[in-house]
Amino acid sequence: MPSFMDNHGNYIASLGNVCRWLAGQAEGLGVEIYPGMAASEPVFDGDAMVGVVVGEFGRDKDGRPGPNYEPGMELRGKYVFIGEGVRGSLAKVLRKKYGLGKDANPEKFGIGIKELWQVPDEVFQPGLVIHTLGWPLDPKTEGGSFMYHFGDNYIAVGYVVHLNYKNPWLSPFDEFQRWKHHPEVAKHLAGGKRIAYGARALSEGGLQSVPKLYFPGGVLLGDSAGLVNLPRIKGSHNAMKSGMLAAEAAHAAIKGGRAGDELVEYEEAFRTSWVRKELHTVRNFKPILGIFGPLVGGAVGMFDLWTTHLLGGFSFFGTLKHKKSDAESTGLAKDYQPIVYPKPDGVLSFDKLSSVFLSSTNHDENQPAHLKLRDPSVPIAVNLPKHGEPARLYCPAGVYEVLYDEKGDNPKFQINFQNCVHCKTCDIKDPSQNIDWTTPQGGDGPNYPNM
Ligand code: SF4
Repeated sequence: MPSFMDNHGNYIASLGNVCRWLAGQAEGLGVEIYPGMAASEPVFDGDAMVGVVVGEFGRDKDGRPGPNYEPGMELRGKYVFIGEGVRGSLAKVLRKKYGLGKDANPEKFGIGIKELWQVPDEVFQPGLVIHTLGWPLDPKTEGGSFMYHFGDNYIAVGYVVHLNYKNPWLSPFDEFQRWKHHPEVAKHLAGGKRIAYGARALSEGGLQSVPKLYFPGGVLLGDSAGLVNLPRIKGSHNAMKSGMLAAEAAHAAIKGGRAGDELVEYEEAFRTSWVRKELHTVRNFKPILGIFGPLVGGAVGMFDLWTTHLLGGFSFFGTLKHKKSDAESTGLAKDYQPIVYPKPDGVLSFDKLSSVFLSSTNHDENQPAHLKLRDPSVPIAVNLPKHGEPARLYCPAGVYEVLYDEKGDNPKFQINFQNCVHCKTCDIKDPSQNIDWTTPQGGDGPNYPNM
């Protein structure tokens, strides 16, 4: 492996716990944090973004203000930094309004599904990290796994499926469950207990998909801008650095008497930062996988990582492009065989509902569904005949179901929004781009201790 892929000497930590610790540090410095409220809408003044609406509570499931209704409040700032993680609902609005992605390649994503296990001493090897590629995915679908032994006899295991997969019958959740049955994986979990579950989309487009980073009144940070280094499967360091660059740019601007304008200096600082250099070195890894497939592409991609690293950023491939969005990559149901997944054994593998229970997801049921269909007829009229309605399969939380009457007719699309673990995959992968993930009321959602 090239030296930048080396992780020896690093710490293994729960990012959820790191964020909780960081929150305490920030509050100690006087930062106000509102964890029980979602930033639901941008606030504009003329063409500039000036803040966000937070904390609207008490609408009933039809969207009408209920007896405990409290309107949201506007939080305004001299500059607004958007750091919502992958496929944020505010970033989606801003990208469209300001055309931030118009000179970039389409965004690319993966879905990562993760479990936390606690295992007996005999199998626990603190500090052990294992990555795999391929199995159990078919040879045309890209993905791989991770395993970290850390903390109090914990093992974090997870599987990432790239969302440009074509077979609409594929279920990332069930691929992950199957992966745990490989003897080289199962032996690490022997005698252990699964204690937490979660899922989240990852940004995979890399440098080619990075949009314009600033707009009137604000900037995009971290995964909102897609700053993940895919071959390293790491982006937190880039997210932090982007926040620091933006903060320095805003601080200098405010000191100079500016507010609410375009922070061009942030993008300039990004262009000369180590974040861009790092993303530049690995820029062809993902497109090479797309062109050559996971097996040959893995080898060619590794060759490209080595040479680009040794040649100071020069690649024999130049800079390859991403051509299609992940939604457009979804194939037709008639062109693929449905996949029959083994039933979970309740020891190593589990079903979706018992998994969602371990995500500690909570949504007040008497609120409008936060998963909005632009056209409610599309799932049954378009997606079902064309693609077999893949939402049933790609959603790792069993949110979407197609229900039939007792004769097996009259399909109906049902959304169990209470189960949603906020992974954003539906917003990304729906072939008709008909689903908008929006924020539920009151900061509801999964709760990930030690994840
Ligand atoms: S509904 Fe969408 S965001 Fe929620 S868990 Fe399912 S795929 Fe993820």
